Amino acid sequence: MKAQSFDLVIVGAGPVGLMCAYLARLSGLSAIVLDKSEAPLEVGRADALNARTLQLLELAGLFGEIYPLGKPCNTSSVWKDGRFVSRQSAWWDDLEGCFHRHFLMLGQSFLEKSLDAKLRELGASVRRRAPVERVEVTEEGCRTTLVGGELLESKYVVGADGSRSLVRELFGIPFVIERPQIVWAVIDAELETDFPKVPEIIVFQADTSDVAWIPREGAIDRFYVRMDTKDFTLEDAMAKVNRATWPHAVSLKKLVWFSRFSVKESVAESYFVRDRVFLAGDAAHIHSVNGGQGLNTGLADAFNLIWKLALVLKRGAPSSLLASYESERKPVAVSVIESSGELVRSTKYSATGTHAEDYVKIVERRAGNITGMGIRYGRDGLDGQRLPDFELRSGGETRRIYSLLDYSRYTLLVFGVASPPAPLPDYVRRVDVPDGVPTAAEAILVRPDGYIAAHGTLAEMSARIETPEALVHGL
Ligand SMILES: Cc1cc2nc3c(=O)[nH]c(=O)nc-3n(C[C@H](O)[C@H](O)[C@H](O)COP(=O)(O)OP(=O)(O)OC[C@H]3O[C@@H](n4cnc5c(N)ncnc54)[C@H](O)[C@@H]3O)c2cc1C
Repeated sequence: MKAQSFDLVIVGAGPVGLMCAYLARLSGLSAIVLDKSEAPLEVGRADALNARTLQLLELAGLFGEIYPLGKPCNTSSVWKDGRFVSRQSAWWDDLEGCFHRHFLMLGQSFLEKSLDAKLRELGASVRRRAPVERVEVTEEGCRTTLVGGELLESKYVVGADGSRSLVRELFGIPFVIERPQIVWAVIDAELETDFPKVPEIIVFQADTSDVAWIPREGAIDRFYVRMDTKDFTLEDAMAKVNRATWPHAVSLKKLVWFSRFSVKESVAESYFVRDRVFLAGDAAHIHSVNGGQGLNTGLADAFNLIWKLALVLKRGAPSSLLASYESERKPVAVSVIESSGELVRSTKYSATGTHAEDYVKIVERRAGNITGMGIRYGRDGLDGQRLPDFELRSGGETRRIYSLLDYSRYTLLVFGVASPPAPLPDYVRRVDVPDGVPTAAEAILVRPDGYIAAHGTLAEMSARIETPEALVHGL
C-alpha cells in the first residue's frame, strides 16, 4: 500500500503537538498528529497560561474560545502563622503594550480538549492510539513508521512527544538531565476551609516556604507541596498544607488529581536534525513547574516554528530560515531553566528565613520570563521585540492591533502615511494605523508570531517584502 503523504507529521498530541497542528492548518500546510494515548488529557498537569500566551492565542483566533474558560489572576500574597503579610502585583502594572495583565488560571486539559475539538471540526487529522516506532530522514524528506508497520511520508516531522521523546532519542540528540533532588506533591481538589481565601496565588512563610495555593478554573484549587522524601502519601502532603495554613484548616471535599514529581532540568543540545526533524515543547526542554513556564514555553515554540516551515515550503523562502528556530528558542529555554531553577531552590535554602517574600521577589525580577512578555529575539531595539498591543481608532470603531494580526501572514503596519496601498505579495497584509499611535517609524513589519521583523520608511519596508528571501533576511 502506498504511504500517505503530508507536509508535516507531528509526533505527540499534547498541547504543543496540537497547537503545531492547528497553526499548520492556519498556514495552509497538510499535517497529521499521531499520539499513542486514547484521548486528550482529562485532568492535571499545567495550570496557567501567561500573558504572552494570551496574545499568541489572539493572533491565532483562539482567544475568544479559551479565555472564558479560565480565571484571571495577577496577584501573589504572603501569609505567615494565619496572618496576611504582603501582597504583590506591581510587575503586572509595569508591563507595556499588554491588555491582559494577568495569568489565566486554566488546566492543561481544557486547552488540549479545545484544540482537539477545533482540529476535528476543521477536518484535520488527529490520530489516537497511534504509537510511533521510527522516524527517518530520507533523500526526499521524512518517513515515520507506526507500531504495526504503517508508513507515513512527510516533508518535515515535529517531535512534540514530551520529556521522554522518542524522536529525540532516535536521532541521538543529547539531553543531559540535572536532578536537584526536589520532590513536589500536586493536589487539584474542591476544598472545605475556613481560610479567608481570595483568588490569588498564596505562598506561606513557615520553617521553609514549601506550600503554594493556586486558584484555578471552576470550583477547584491547586496546592503545590514540597516534600522531603520521594515516598509520601496524600495525607502527608495535606498535613503540610495544614501546617502552612494554621490556625485555619483545609480538607478535601472532592479530589480531582494527585501527583508526585521530581524536578528535572534539561535542554536538548540541538532543536533540529538536517533541517527536517524539529523538537518542540517538553521534548526540547524540561524544568521545574515554578513560574508555570513549561506549557507556555512549549506553545511559544509552536508559534515560532510553524510559520517558518510554511514560508519555506509554500513560498520558497530559503531553508536557512529554519535554523533560526533553534537560535531563537533554545536561549529562551535556557533562561526558563534559570528562572524556574532559582525559584524552586529558593523554597528551601534561605539564609534569612524569609523564603516566601524572597520567592515573590524572584518572581518580580524574573517577570519577563514568567509573563512571557520579556522574551525577545535578537539584539536591543525595536527589531526582535514583541509587537506591543495597542488600540486603533478609526471611523468611530476601536480595534486592538492583536485582533488584526494574522498568523498565516506577515503584517505591514503603516503609520499615518497617505500613500495608496501598493499591491502586496500574498504573504503580507497591510494595516494602516491612523495618526495618534506614537512611533518613530513610518512602517513596521511584524512576523506571523507577533515579533517585529524590521522597521523603517515605507519604501524600505516595501523593498523588504518584495521576495521571501528579502523578507527573512537576517533571521
Ligand atoms: C506529572 C506532570 C505534572 C506536571 N505538572 C505541571 C504543573 O503543575 N504545572 C506546569 O506548568 N507544568 C506541569 N507539567 C508540565 C506540562 O504538563 C508540560 O510542560 C506540557 O505538557 C508540555 O506539553 P508537550 O505537548 O510538549 O508534551 P506532553 O504534554 O508530554 O505531550 C506529549 C504527547 O506525546 C505522546 N507520545 C509520546 N511518545 C509517543 C510516541 N512514541 N508515539 C505517539 N505519541 C507519543 C504522549 O502520549 C503525549 O500525549 C507537568 C508534567 C508532568 C509530566
